[in-house]
Amino acid sequence: MSRVLIIGCGGVASVAIQKCCQVSEVFTEICIASRTKAKCDALAAKLAGKTATKITTAQVDADNTQEVIDLINSYKPELVMNIALPYQDLTIMDACLACGVNYMDTANYEPENIEDPEWRAIYDKRCKEEGFSAYFDYSWQWAYRKKFEEAGLTALLGSGFDPGVTQAYCAYALKHEFDQIDTIDILDCNGGDHGYPFATNFNPEINLREVSAPGSYWENGHWVEIPAMSIKREYNFDQVGQKDMYLLHHEEIESLAQNIPGVKRIRFFMTFGQSYLTHMRCLENVGMLSTTPINYEGKEIVPIQFLKALLPDPASLGPRTKGKTNIGCIFTGTKDGKPKTYYIYNVCDHEESYKEVESQAISYTTGVPAMCGALMLLTGKWNKKGVFTVEEFDPDPYIEALDKYGLPHQESFAPVLVD
Ligand code: NDP
Repeated sequence: MSRVLIIGCGGVASVAIQKCCQVSEVFTEICIASRTKAKCDALAAKLAGKTATKITTAQVDADNTQEVIDLINSYKPELVMNIALPYQDLTIMDACLACGVNYMDTANYEPENIEDPEWRAIYDKRCKEEGFSAYFDYSWQWAYRKKFEEAGLTALLGSGFDPGVTQAYCAYALKHEFDQIDTIDILDCNGGDHGYPFATNFNPEINLREVSAPGSYWENGHWVEIPAMSIKREYNFDQVGQKDMYLLHHEEIESLAQNIPGVKRIRFFMTFGQSYLTHMRCLENVGMLSTTPINYEGKEIVPIQFLKALLPDPASLGPRTKGKTNIGCIFTGTKDGKPKTYYIYNVCDHEESYKEVESQAISYTTGVPAMCGALMLLTGKWNKKGVFTVEEFDPDPYIEALDKYGLPHQESFAPVLVD
């Protein structure tokens, strides 16, 4: 019996909300709150009569901590699920602390304005000290550890697929398959085809910023940074086939490097087609990926936000997308003194996802783990106090829930390794 406030009603949130409604014995009441209330109302109307979960809706600007505090105080939830954007992570965490409520999200903090001098000074220092230049990192949210611990609250960070399930896979491998993990390769393959020359599968602003940034990986205790898209490999993915994949910086590498003892190397690869890369390079070259506002005929425009308005809404890709995703982790290490390799992954079908929740598999593979993370907190299976990433909790009940609610895992004990 739980009351949950869900902030955001975009591609990922709409899947998470529908999945919560499938588990109405736990999610007895939810409030869907977002900047655009009409989207919340439309989803609530779609679910009316199909679930025992009692749904209400609200308007909130989550950039404004006081608005979130007021909403929490009037709704009185046990948990706030932040499925808005990474920009809102800190304001929502502040509101949860002020109201004594547990928190969770699906991506770590990133500032909306990367030109803000105060943020920039801290960022420049971190780039120098840590050796990676991504705009997002865990330091901002890890800074809340003591506050959450002292308040007796839990903040679960990054319960999507990657970050999220990939870290549970690492914890699972460490718990059941290895005495020592030496290397981790996280492989994110989207074999889906939506038929457009160019579109992003989730929020274009977040997606394009991630992909156009330098890549980096963790090796022998430090970061190695490389130019964007400069390390390419090919891999033959189960149920998808042969794909080109590129090494990217990805947020879970940062926490895994701290939480998997003695790990020597962690890399993250994502598949991209040639057409996507050509479009992206071209847009970057003409300045359309910039987040710095420009003045156009007396009006201030942020180029990447304007681009977002031109591109297909990720939510509209659902009915058009065919094919499958395959996301997982390949490990090397030792068990009982012998070398061992292991691959754990999930395959998700775009059309099946659409049939179930009218969303393509990218939103599905993020929304289901968001619901499962909330389920862990609400049922007390994960109950440590403080701020944690997924690999810091027992992976077994989470993976069991993922298996049950639509993202079953598969294993290989003799995987082809990435060189
Ligand atoms: P969308 O852009 O589709 O949805 C974002 C939602 O947040 C919209 O409903 C938007 O409202 C709302 N929102 C934005 N700003 C505010 C605000 N200030 N106050 C209240 N609501 C706001 O994004 P996605 O659903 O694709 O992504 C959601 C999250 O999931 C992101 O953080 C993304 O990084 C993360 N993600 C994580 C993945 C993982 O595997 N871990 C994979 C993919 C995404 P409005 O309708 O008004 O714009």
